[in-house]
Amino acid sequence: MRETDLLIVGAGTAGLTAAIYGCRSGLVCVVLEKGMFGGQIVNTTDIENYPGMPGVDGVEFANALHQQAEKLGAQILFESLEEITKGEDHWFYVKTSGGAFRAKAVIVANGAEHRKLGCQGEETFAGRGVSYCATCDGAFYRGKEVAVVGGGNTALEEALYLSSICEKVHLIHRRDTFRAHQKTIQRVLSTPNIIPHYQSAVVRVEGNTKLQSLILSTPEGETTVAVAGLFVAIGLAPQNQLYALLCQLDENGYFVAGEDCVTSCEGLYAAGDTRQKPLRQLVTAASDGAVAAYMAGSYIGGTFSQWDARGSLYQRLF
Ligand SMILES: Cc1cc2nc3c(=O)[nH]c(=O)nc-3n(C[C@H](O)[C@H](O)[C@H](O)COP(=O)(O)OP(=O)(O)OC[C@H]3O[C@@H](n4cnc5c(N)ncnc54)[C@H](O)[C@@H]3O)c2cc1C
Repeated sequence: MRETDLLIVGAGTAGLTAAIYGCRSGLVCVVLEKGMFGGQIVNTTDIENYPGMPGVDGVEFANALHQQAEKLGAQILFESLEEITKGEDHWFYVKTSGGAFRAKAVIVANGAEHRKLGCQGEETFAGRGVSYCATCDGAFYRGKEVAVVGGGNTALEEALYLSSICEKVHLIHRRDTFRAHQKTIQRVLSTPNIIPHYQSAVVRVEGNTKLQSLILSTPEGETTVAVAGLFVAIGLAPQNQLYALLCQLDENGYFVAGEDCVTSCEGLYAAGDTRQKPLRQLVTAASDGAVAAYMAGSYIGGTFSQWDARGSLYQRLF
């Protein structure tokens, strides 16, 4: 069985920052990533609000973090965490898609995933017209008619992005006003090929081998809109069922953990979008990664005697 001091689940902003801090403190750090490193931010081209890096591209940002973590010694493995338990010997025992690990401490930085609409046909046409990321898949619909579902910043930004490459964008929202920044709403409302559908919801999606139309429920009754693509942007949901037996989760599935990232399971920390917090952004994810690595280092130092000899190194590097 492979062994590490600190096992980090997720190579997004929180996880890679935890790896940077963990490695600098002298811990052996392994990061598990089930998809591509970088997490959610690779889906955006323009980050306006990360302090000191105005206008940086999401992929560029993720590449820089990845390189920084690897240069400091983090081992980033493209494996998914599938099972986790804690032994009476204080070690965490983990099963991954690539084998098994034991770790002295674990930081869960697995972010959150796109919420599904739950309508009829959504699963059938996923990847065949139904998408959860306009910047990833928008180019497949160049010159075509598409729809975006949602009323927040992400939905409106996706609609704006698609309006520059698609013929027409139907923006479907269940309320009568959007919940986005005023500046973004104004841009959407003044873009001629974005058609808002207020108080509307997708009842089902239809097609043959590919998506062809949406059935909307509107205040005037059901109506059909012919589209080649449907982009679902109705928010994110955590995927923490794996940890439900180890830790306390809240009613929405987020880890119950404060600014110190401490969960109800000793030695297991939750960092970034996966924990309860008022603001899910890069800057708060990075902050959590640093704090969680610091807390994990203190825990390992206190719990595993073989680490004590390195305790002074840990203090010096922070
Ligand atoms: C389109 C878009 C634009 C955004 N723009 C901005 C912006 O401009 N500024 C800003 O501050 N924030 C922005 N955000 C929000 C920001 O991206 C998130 O707050 C941030 O990415 C959270 O980082 P994280 O590390 O907690 O999670 P994530 O970025 O979600 O990373 C989690 C990682 O964990 C991996 N993972 C999940 N489960 C497992 C598992 N079982 N095993 C192994 N790996 C796993 C995932 O594949 C993923 O790579 C944007 C988000 C989106 C979607």
